Amino acid sequence: MAKNNDQDQFKKVLSHAKEYGYVFQSSEIYDGLSAVYDYGQNGVELKKNIREYWWQAMTQLNQDIVGIDTAIFMHPTVWKASGHVDAFNDPLIDNKDSKKRYRADVLVEDYCEKHLQKANKEIAKAAKRFGEDFDAKMYAETNPRVMGYMKKATEPTARLAQLLEAEDLEGVKALIEELEIADPDTGSKNWTDVRQFNLMFGTKIGASADTATDLFLRPETAQGIFVNFLNVQKSGRMKIPFGIAQTGKAFRNEIVARQFIFRQREFEQMEMQYFVKPGTELKWFEIWKEKRMAWHRSLGMGDENYRFHDHEKMAHYANAATDIEFDFPFGFKELEGIHSRTDFDLKAHEEHSGKKLQFFDHEDNKSYVPYVLETSIGLDRMFLAVFSNSLVDEKLDGGGERTVLKLPAVLAPVKAAILPLLKKDGLPEIANEIVDELKWSMNVAYEEKDSIGKRYARHDLNGTPYCVTIDHDTKEDHAVTVRDRDTMTQERVAIKDLKSYLESRVSMSEWLRKI
Ligand code: ATP
Repeated sequence: MAKNNDQDQFKKVLSHAKEYGYVFQSSEIYDGLSAVYDYGQNGVELKKNIREYWWQAMTQLNQDIVGIDTAIFMHPTVWKASGHVDAFNDPLIDNKDSKKRYRADVLVEDYCEKHLQKANKEIAKAAKRFGEDFDAKMYAETNPRVMGYMKKATEPTARLAQLLEAEDLEGVKALIEELEIADPDTGSKNWTDVRQFNLMFGTKIGASADTATDLFLRPETAQGIFVNFLNVQKSGRMKIPFGIAQTGKAFRNEIVARQFIFRQREFEQMEMQYFVKPGTELKWFEIWKEKRMAWHRSLGMGDENYRFHDHEKMAHYANAATDIEFDFPFGFKELEGIHSRTDFDLKAHEEHSGKKLQFFDHEDNKSYVPYVLETSIGLDRMFLAVFSNSLVDEKLDGGGERTVLKLPAVLAPVKAAILPLLKKDGLPEIANEIVDELKWSMNVAYEEKDSIGKRYARHDLNGTPYCVTIDHDTKEDHAVTVRDRDTMTQERVAIKDLKSYLESRVSMSEWLRKI
């Protein structure tokens, strides 16, 4: 199986997503809108399935988590209280020659990642050379070349964190110059000063210019949860610890938006805030780290493709934070954030609204502002992780090659293609009966055009996990041939067992059990 961590693979992902109706550039006939995307007929299904897999894992598998759906528009003071008006900034830097704009922190992070990859390459080379007795840890700690790379992979991130903490933007520029970081596109090192840039989109609500109020499009869904904390706690009679989950659109005026759906200006988040007793938050932080990683692993996309990355620089509200990073075609990058947000948000909303946002603990006989654990994942980023990881080129045993989209079956837009071998002899009629039976529990596609081999190939590219073929024997044995997309093995299955055969392999409830 070939999964290339390179530009070519990424280009392939982009064109495959378009060709097979997964993702289109927004307003494409007008030359598109930068960093805004539309989901096509297959994309919308994949996206919905990811959302549903997350939603059920949160709200159905946990008795103490409920969901809500809050508005995108919120009272403007929400964003003052949350700190977004004053501190939701990214440091930007322009290259004077190429006129390209970058995030200064990302330039430094990419520099570190490059050196980490160099170190890993050296270690892998040595492992090959020394064979079985090779001690990778010892090698990394003693080999001068690896040590040099590791230093360049870690030191700059720590310095960057300090500089950003101290809001020392001149220092950030000096660091970029000292590391001799060049524009990744042109190689130019002719940089402007670093400036802060607020990422929130402003808009107005109201009919006339004099009475209109300035609003922001929400840059995260979390604040809708915080401001409803008491509503949900009281109406749901929730006891601490409990969680509130939400999925929905968020908007950020991203400085750099060149990575397809990885970084968009309009995107969707899936967030869960878990309210706990103060002092227990770090225990819950560890629990949620593990729970979220288990969710990811249940999809079978390769444990080696995930890693935790603990934060050096915490957001203004956090006392512990980690990212779950995924190995995208452009390297390991943040897929999900897990943050211990303390009582920052609820306290800030108490101060700004003048309303108490507290929980009365009957055991201790006192009220307190709960602490919060947050898990926050981008739905579109998860889509990209799933899609890019699934698109593989394979050499076949008997010679030849194929490209196949090995989406986890639970997420695939179409679960089974129902294919009469020929367009005659009563085979389409049987196939249609099967469609009519299956359509109540899963998405299926009926197809009779082209040879069976071509239809298999098309569904491999489309990500359909099972192809069901109705042939002449079907009339005698009342069975069909089921072909597995990934192994390409074929199995004869009685029509009466087909529904349960497929359900046991594609249904959400079966997959959720793997978490
Ligand atoms: P990054 O450092 O990549 O900008 P972040 O740390 O600002 O991300 P959070 O504020 O923690 O991100 O948001 C939680 C999740 O929302 C991220 O892990 C990511 O999956 C998703 N996300 C954030 N910004 C975007 C975006 N512009 N486009 C798509 N997804 C996003």
